[in-house]
This record gives sequence, C-alpha cells and structure tokens, in this order.
Amino acid sequence: MIEFKGVHKWFKKLHVLNNIDLLVKKGEVVVVCGPSGSGKSTLIRTVNALEPISDGILTVDGVKVSDPKTDINKLRTEVGFVFQQFNLYPHLNVLDNVTLAPRKVKNIPKKQAEDFAMELLTKVGMENKKNSHPSQLSGGQQQRVAIARGLAMQPKIMLFDEPTSALDPEMIGEVLKVMKDLAVGDITMMVVTHEMGFAREVADRVIFIDQGSIVEEAPPEDFFNHPKSDRAQKFLKQVL
Ligand code: ADP
Ligand code: MG
Repeated sequence: MIEFKGVHKWFKKLHVLNNIDLLVKKGEVVVVCGPSGSGKSTLIRTVNALEPISDGILTVDGVKVSDPKTDINKLRTEVGFVFQQFNLYPHLNVLDNVTLAPRKVKNIPKKQAEDFAMELLTKVGMENKKNSHPSQLSGGQQQRVAIARGLAMQPKIMLFDEPTSALDPEMIGEVLKVMKDLAVGDITMMVVTHEMGFAREVADRVIFIDQGSIVEEAPPEDFFNHPKSDRAQKFLKQVL
C-alpha cells in the first residue's frame, strides 16, 4: 500500500529523511516513534504529498507520488490525515465538517453524505453533537470528529500525526479507543505517537526513527522488550 525506496528529504541543507526504505502492507498498522525533530511528521506527510520528497521513489497504492503526472488531489481522497491540532473548520458545525469533502470533492448528494456522516459520528460517539461548532467541543471530541471527517472520504490509508499530544490526559483514552477500533478493519494506518501502550497493543510494527533514518523496525513485543540500538533504548527510557 505504501512503499518508500531510498527516499530522501532535504529542507535546504537540512537532511531530514535519509535513505528511507519502508514497505507498509494493506491493513497494516505501523507506529512511528522517535525523538522530537527526528523526521516523523515529515515522513508521514510525504505519503499524501503534503511534503514533496527530494530523492528516491515513494509509491502509494500503486501510484508514484513524486511523478509530476500524479493527480495529487485524487491521491489525497485515498489518504486521510489527522493532525495534532484538530484542524476542524471553525465556522462549520460537526455534520458539515464531516460532509464537506465528500460533497465538494466526490459530489455525493447531501442526504447520502449526511447519512454516512451520521454512521461515522456514531462510530466515534459524536452523533449527538452533530449541530455543535468545534469551539463548543472538548479537544477529545474535536479529535474524534476529525477522525470521522477523515473517514468520510472512505480512504484506504489513514495517517495520524500525534493525534493525542494536544489533549488533556483524561481525553487521550477516548481518542485512542476510536483509533483502536479503526485498526481492526482493513484500513492501512501510519501513526506517529508517543503512546507506547497503544503501540504495544495495536501496532503490527513499530518504526523507530532518529535523525531522519529508520534505526529499528520490529513487531512491538520485540521493540519494547529487546530494543537493539542504544538510541532506541535511551528513547524508551524517556517515554515509558
Ligand atoms: P518530528 O515530527 O519527528 O518532530 P519533523 O519531521 O517535524 O520532526 O522535523 C524534522 C526536522 O525538519 C526538524 O529539524 C525540523 O525543524 C525540520 N523541519 C520540519 N519542517 C520544516 C520546514 N517546513 N522547513 C524547514 N525545516 C523543517
Ligand atoms: Mg512531528
């Protein structure tokens, strides 16, 4: 579903992704962790072309992302993205936040888009807030709506960039629960998170990245019980 082959990314002289090779299969849940500034956000942002790569080959669902002929808008309909900051449209209510893209981008009729949106809002436990505006919701509620909004396009891939980092502690669990339920299905997920409990329980694989390179790649039980590198051991001491 996602394949990086020798991918590099520079911001001017800063080498942010260094020769990334990574294969993510359909339905897999991959957790990406590593120190701050190691390139985690940049890595997942390349998948829906929010950041263009500088070198190498990146293929998403059979499409070469860096190919100038690739229809980036079409790619983005297949890749949902949930950010640390919830990024809901502040002037739209919950239902309109979730139906906007399907209606505008896919031309889904209003009624049909709303029916599906209500299904998704029920899944994330937000069906009774459909008329609320984002400012009337807690951070955890906004993030659950953001996940429903991402799913509204029926993406094959969902990317999460520290989806719980901006939340008060008591709200982290409700968002992780929604992500956990999602992980059971056949959607492919790449999740940047410091929630090592989530990684242990839900991830098929953990990728540890440091200074732009993948340093370790292992099933969670191996990564947590027997981290091979000094850098991963040091990182785990800090977050666990
Ligand atoms: P992480 O998500 O692991 O904290 P990032 O991928 O956000 O790391 O950033 C990796 C490095 O790239 C950092 O040194 C960061 O300052 C730098 N960086 C990120 N985005 C940009 C940008 N748009 N322009 C210049 N440098 C950037
Ligand atoms: Mg980041």
